[in-house]
Amino acid sequence: MRHQAIKTVSNRKNTFSHKGNVSFTKLYNFNVFDDLAMRDFLSKEAYESVTKSVTEGKTINRKMAEHVASGMKQWALSKGATHYTHWFQPLTGSTAEKHDSFWEPSGGKAVEKFSAGSLVQQEPDASSLPNGGLRNTFEARGYTAWDPSSPAFIHENSTGKTLCIPTVFVSYNGEALDYKAPLLKSIKLVDQAATEICKYFLKKVTSVKPSLGIEQEYFLVDEAMFNARPDLMMCGRTLVGHAPAKGQQMDDHYFGAIPDRVFNYMYEVEIEAAKLGIPLKTRHNEVAPGQYECAPMFEDVNLAVDHNQLLMDLMDHLAHKHHFRVLFHEKPFAGINGSGKHNNWSLITNTGTNLLSPGSDPNSNLLFLTIFINTIKALHDNADIIRASIASASNDHRLGANEAPPAIISAFIGSKLTDVLNAFLSDSTASDKDDRKSIYIDTIPEIFRDNTDRNRTSPFAFTGNKFELRAVGSSTNSAQPMTALNSAVANQLILFKQAVDQAIENGTDQKTAIVSELKQVLRSAQSILFEGNNYSEEWASEAAKRGLSNIKNTAEALKAYVSDQAEATFVKNGVFTKEELHARFEIMLEEYIKKIQIEGRVLGDLVYTFILPPAIEYLTSLAQNVKAMKDSGLNAGVAQLHLIAEIAEHIDQAKAKTDAMVEARRLANLESDSQKMAIAYHKTVKETFDDIRYHADKLEQLVDDKMWQLPKYRELLFLK
Ligand code: ADP
Ligand code: MG
Repeated sequence: MRHQAIKTVSNRKNTFSHKGNVSFTKLYNFNVFDDLAMRDFLSKEAYESVTKSVTEGKTINRKMAEHVASGMKQWALSKGATHYTHWFQPLTGSTAEKHDSFWEPSGGKAVEKFSAGSLVQQEPDASSLPNGGLRNTFEARGYTAWDPSSPAFIHENSTGKTLCIPTVFVSYNGEALDYKAPLLKSIKLVDQAATEICKYFLKKVTSVKPSLGIEQEYFLVDEAMFNARPDLMMCGRTLVGHAPAKGQQMDDHYFGAIPDRVFNYMYEVEIEAAKLGIPLKTRHNEVAPGQYECAPMFEDVNLAVDHNQLLMDLMDHLAHKHHFRVLFHEKPFAGINGSGKHNNWSLITNTGTNLLSPGSDPNSNLLFLTIFINTIKALHDNADIIRASIASASNDHRLGANEAPPAIISAFIGSKLTDVLNAFLSDSTASDKDDRKSIYIDTIPEIFRDNTDRNRTSPFAFTGNKFELRAVGSSTNSAQPMTALNSAVANQLILFKQAVDQAIENGTDQKTAIVSELKQVLRSAQSILFEGNNYSEEWASEAAKRGLSNIKNTAEALKAYVSDQAEATFVKNGVFTKEELHARFEIMLEEYIKKIQIEGRVLGDLVYTFILPPAIEYLTSLAQNVKAMKDSGLNAGVAQLHLIAEIAEHIDQAKAKTDAMVEARRLANLESDSQKMAIAYHKTVKETFDDIRYHADKLEQLVDDKMWQLPKYRELLFLK
């Protein structure tokens, strides 16, 4: 299989090239029911009703929904769509759709129908999607409901077009069964909380929207190689494989020239993304061989999340066309970098002010500090929740495994802002390196931009006018961490406002009240600030001294979803009910268990059917050779005998350890409580993988290359 795959890759012809000019400005939003399309296809009334619902959260009434459905249908038909679907994001991690045709037979003919009912709500049933016990079988119905804040779009296939309507997915009783419903609630919550804060400073602000720009890292592997690796196929990552002689140590891949085949793939992704309104802006090679990154312009959080999910679908789909497979797994290859999804987040007012952008006068500076310091405090109080929101079996390979970033949640703010905060606390003045004075808010109008180096090791870094949550895994649906971050910040802003209002009521003037409360908040949150190298062992012990959590595995991390802090952050503010949190906790535990279970099975299969057979075959041939030499009176020499002994030993070990892993799985399955089972899977099953792998990889190194059937790392990473 391996040798055939190598031949296939070597003979690949570069069949995809884009001749002629492509105008991205013309392609942009071509397949989106965007503002322009709505103006064309909706009545003035219907158009206003949709835009008001987006900007002011106003409900669209039934009559208007009927108008919108009719206009949307006309638009979709004009684009050649034949079917429509509600498009949603269940807790499986991927997107879901169930198509219905527009046409129906009527009086011997066929007519195209699409009513408000079909637009606003569907009952896809979808009872096999995870629900964590929220749907009893007698009331197992699940409903999707239209989210007008994310525009409908047309999904193009080679043979047909489908109108997709972004929706939330809820149970009969309204409990969230997806990522979007809680995200929308958290957006509303942080909007209200931040708008209230703005009233101290900017009277004109009536709403605040969280914004998000997602940098997406991924690997590309040739399809023939992928198909010859059962572990990549079934688990998305390699479970065995010896490190190649050359990996990323030369740093020759990072920002290097993009290989032609890869470039063609990226270009086609960009074209299709533009049609869907996904504003891809950046592309480059990443650090590891075979690793790449793309990033869009930032958008409202809800749209950015939808676009990222769509982008991943698109990338997956188009990879097939280019004979690639795209890997979104956080750690497809041991020994080289894994992939993340950096979430750049800030808060922007309806008047266009970025609240995380340092200001140029005392008033806006104090507003900036208010949002900035409260965000740090939110992270401090909700570190475990943020950790839980990015927890998965696959992200565990990055977090806490000597890779970017660690499992310890902390914030990096840069030396300039560190000085500013210290000056703020001590009522003194900070100055920059040219000795220009900066903040103190009363005397100095400007906070100078930080021009120090980025800290690439921090899980939560301030980068000038936004925070970058770098700990999100590359396969994660960003809705989950963004729901956590929005809610945490909103909750903190609400508490802050209560304290300030109380002080004002007690006779303190507004500014003094804000400054004094901010100082208190900052002092109580300072332990979360860390400017040094997050990978170092010193940081782990320093963090422990500071009382910061260092939760290295998902089985433990998820507990934060059912903690008191979760109650304060989510339940009290109406983002999740207690039942929803418990359901999510169960679903994520189950997912964790299943992932490790599948990996265990695949690893067992690999050892028995891919690793041991060529090793035994080679061992046999060596032994026969030695015997033949002896028979003809030749001295076989010690080298061959050593090799035989070494191979035999690794065969024994690989077999014994795999057998033990199978037994550990059997025992773990006996646990009745899912958290106990998850911990058992983590401690007794997953922990054996590296040991088994060690012997498998030794065998790969020792066995005759001709006999080895699994594509090797050098072929997976370097053959294109
Ligand atoms: P950096 O070099 O700081 O990583 P980039 O310009 O490459 O910055 O941006 C990285 C991502 O951050 C992009 O997706 C970009 O759109 C996004 N971004 C920039 N400003 C903001 C903001 N105010 N809010 C959210 N995301 C932002
Ligand atoms: Mg960045």
